[in-house]
Amino acid sequence: MFELDPGYATQNSLLRRLPPAERSALQSRLHRVSLPKGEILHSFGSSMENVFFPESGAIMTTVNSAGREVDVLLTGREGMVGGSLLLSDLPFHHQSSVKIEGTGWRLGAADFREVCDRMPNLRTVSAQYLHGVFGGALRSIGCNAVHSLEARYASWLKLLAHRTGRNSIDLKQSEMARLLGAHRSRVTGTASALQSSGIIRYARGHIHILREDKLIEIACDCRQFRSEIEPSPAAQQVCCADAMAE
Ligand SMILES: [Zn+2]
Repeated sequence: MFELDPGYATQNSLLRRLPPAERSALQSRLHRVSLPKGEILHSFGSSMENVFFPESGAIMTTVNSAGREVDVLLTGREGMVGGSLLLSDLPFHHQSSVKIEGTGWRLGAADFREVCDRMPNLRTVSAQYLHGVFGGALRSIGCNAVHSLEARYASWLKLLAHRTGRNSIDLKQSEMARLLGAHRSRVTGTASALQSSGIIRYARGHIHILREDKLIEIACDCRQFRSEIEPSPAAQQVCCADAMAE
């Protein structure tokens, strides 16, 4: 049986920020899970049954808009899926599925609510993460309105690399088109131009970042790669200070 002991170097940023006592108390409730590509973690219109803390790979949140499914939020090792249970247990009108395979931790919804009542730091880091997600959603609306497809493509690609910790992304151009809300032919044209410039290379459902520096030059700053949906250093210090006191 795996135990999330205080010395375990989990790759999930939120779990890493918990004080040792809270991580120890969580160990009997967390279940290690593999996250195979395409697996649906939460379906449209259903109640959230679990919370997930990815350690690798990426989970996509998708909404249904005018009969089309649109990808709106990518979650990797920096965050969690299902944290909105802090706000309500009503059914959610979105779906969460594994976009890039990986591993993570699963915590039952009832356990999540119960431990949040007893573990102030878990509640705090979850609330800070939700606050960041809300701010990021508002900024995405502005991004879609004013920034070029090339800038948004580069921004998403860099975000994917950061979230997954890889410079080689297992993603088709059709999936990038869903992320960007743009027609596939326009997205393929953008990818082709980036490839001609030697910034990326793509083939058979894989995108390799060759020149990260150039990609950052092109990308808009709407997805700050690290800081957008992670708490400020000052906010992180709250939990770190508690951890030191344990
Ligand atoms: Zn933008």
